[in-house]
Amino acid sequence: MSRFLSDRFKALEAYVPGEQPKDMKYIKLNTNESPFPPSGLVYKRICEEIEKLELYPDPEVSGLKQKLADFYGVLPENIFISNGSDEILNFSFMAFCDKSRPVVFPDITYGFYKVFADLYALDYEEIPLSGDFTVNISDYTGIGKNIVIANPNAPTGLSISLSDIEKIVSSNPGNIVIIDEAYVDFGGESAVKLTKKYNNLLVVMTYSKSRSMAGARLGFGIGSAEIIKDLEKIKYSTNPYNINRLTIAAGEAALDESEYYSDNCKKIIENREYTANKLKKLGFEVLDSKANFLFARSDKIGGKELYLALKSKGILVRHFEKDRIREYNRITIGTKEQMDSFIKAVCGILGE
Ligand SMILES: *Cc1c(COP(=O)(O)O)cnc(C)c1O
Repeated sequence: MSRFLSDRFKALEAYVPGEQPKDMKYIKLNTNESPFPPSGLVYKRICEEIEKLELYPDPEVSGLKQKLADFYGVLPENIFISNGSDEILNFSFMAFCDKSRPVVFPDITYGFYKVFADLYALDYEEIPLSGDFTVNISDYTGIGKNIVIANPNAPTGLSISLSDIEKIVSSNPGNIVIIDEAYVDFGGESAVKLTKKYNNLLVVMTYSKSRSMAGARLGFGIGSAEIIKDLEKIKYSTNPYNINRLTIAAGEAALDESEYYSDNCKKIIENREYTANKLKKLGFEVLDSKANFLFARSDKIGGKELYLALKSKGILVRHFEKDRIREYNRITIGTKEQMDSFIKAVCGILGE
């Protein structure tokens, strides 16, 4: 820390991304990326777009907005496009929360929410999930506070029904409810249609998981035109050209080949169920995931011990050194071959 850092940030604990070690080639099942490459059209459009890299990108991102609007059955004015969904989450905490507008989220969820809450020195509360890691809906109904919920949740993979989401949104009309749907394409129910009925709902999505574009940094949000305008105000006050040309081109191309991505999601869901069954046969407790990962533990081996043993065999999973979940590991679902290697490694470690 330099002596120049503002007092505001001295105690801030930054987000720690999943490790990306470079010492050897790992089977990467630790950061919920897609094991599949982007579609051919993405590659082609990026190559074409390179010829215009000397020009700034469209700050309104209108072409991609229109395509996303068509895809999700909303209007372009209902869409905000961001540099990864982390950016729209950041902008939302900045725009809608302050000392007199507290925010709540589950105690076990995406770690970035707490970082944003600390970054802006907000009044916030981490509401404990139930013993089985489900969200207690009544903890969120009529509470008069801003709410952020990942659905499906990470790292548990558990999902909430649309009717329960509606209860939360409709009972807090004076507050914004942000539903982070980073994993919705793997079997969850999207709340996008509720954005037409409730103007206090913002649904956040990303190209990083189901659309094989974590490296391109592209996210977006769907909500009422007023909410989107507020987010645009923050964007034009920080970084008007937040999406680069290549990413815009890639994002549009991916929507033109949406079948490729929905097929990939089907494969991931199949591989998830396959892996869950194998793990259960080995005695693991596996949560009912609707995401592209599993959250599992075993009485036969500690969470950290399994993580380290897998790493020494060249397989990375995500272990969280955190109360309540330290006996678990989060395992990203990859290709069938990757999952077979994973299961084989687990069998070897357990001596079975
Ligand atoms: C991965 C993830 C994000 C961030 O995704 P980016 O679009 O890559 O920034 C947001 N929320 C949750 C719950 C995630 O798991």
